[in-house]
Amino acid sequence: MIFIIKHLTHWMMIVIIEAFFTTRLLQRPDTAEPGKHPPQKVVPMSKPPTVLITGASSGIGANYAERFAQRGHDLVLVARDTARLEALAARLGARNGVAIDLLPADLTQPADLAAVEARLRDDARIGILVNNAGMAQSGGFVQQTAESIERLIALNTTALARLAGAVAPRFARTGTGAIVNIGSVVGFAPEFGMSIYGATKAFVLFLSQGLSLELSPMGVYVQAVLPAATRTEIWERAGIDVNSLSELMDVGDLVDAALVGFDRREAVTIPPLHVAGRWDALDGARQGLLSDIRQTQPAERYQPQPRTGQTGQHMTHA
Ligand code: NAP
Repeated sequence: MIFIIKHLTHWMMIVIIEAFFTTRLLQRPDTAEPGKHPPQKVVPMSKPPTVLITGASSGIGANYAERFAQRGHDLVLVARDTARLEALAARLGARNGVAIDLLPADLTQPADLAAVEARLRDDARIGILVNNAGMAQSGGFVQQTAESIERLIALNTTALARLAGAVAPRFARTGTGAIVNIGSVVGFAPEFGMSIYGATKAFVLFLSQGLSLELSPMGVYVQAVLPAATRTEIWERAGIDVNSLSELMDVGDLVDAALVGFDRREAVTIPPLHVAGRWDALDGARQGLLSDIRQTQPAERYQPQPRTGQTGQHMTHA
């Protein structure tokens, strides 16, 4: 037994020493001819993954399309307005020499949504999904119709979640890929009076955080991007005068900042938030709450109290 252990240790030492010298030799610059670089191994540059962007015909989505095209990514652009998608594709394709496919779709329509899901599931070239298509609403909750509530939820949450759901299994299988979900700071702020819109954006943040926890160990990156008011058509489309808003970010600045977060592999990127510690404090407080909500008994303040006078009345009648 001692003999076997001795030989095993000896053998392991040899393997370690060999591995050490092999690594050193591989890293060693070629010193045979001073001043000359060692011959470089020609490694074919792998093509960057194709990016599928929803809501690419205007605003934030169109800017993502431009930035990713400038980075050399082929694109699949999704929105309803085919003419605008064609014009964008022609411009970006000519300037950047990338291939651009159009997938016109109304993401609130089941057949169109299913077609985009199928593309995400089946097209192995697509390695990044930017879940950006979205809409807002003007007016308070009591002014909303059942149809407008349904449409907003269908686009901002159902379509976004289903598209992530279509692509995530393939990304998880290959241990690569990125999903970018566009939320909003309104998701933090019931005070802003956009209850349905804000609720959909709170959903986007929650879903992104959950997916990030679940998928990042499998090699899939998930980012939630939370813009504040940004100069795009969303306001006009919702019947809100954009000039009535005091602080508006330029859409190019917003997307550039979001991509800084993307390149850093941030889970949550909030371009308008200057004091990063505020998010850390909020998230820290949330996690503190988690440690305190696993209780078998209701909190002391919710212990039912006997109603004053009730016991006495019963006793009188008894
Ligand atoms: P936008 O310019 O109005 O862009 C919205 C995009 O979504 C357009 O390309 C539109 O294209 C597409 N879209 C709308 N309805 C659709 C549908 N039913 N099916 C498929 N595509 C549809 O607004 P944006 O500001 O860039 O908005 C992009 C995202 O940013 C949204 O999720 C929004 O909630 C979020 N956001 C914006 C702001 C802001 O202040 N701008 C702030 C926070 C978050 P078609 O009309 O061609 O379909």
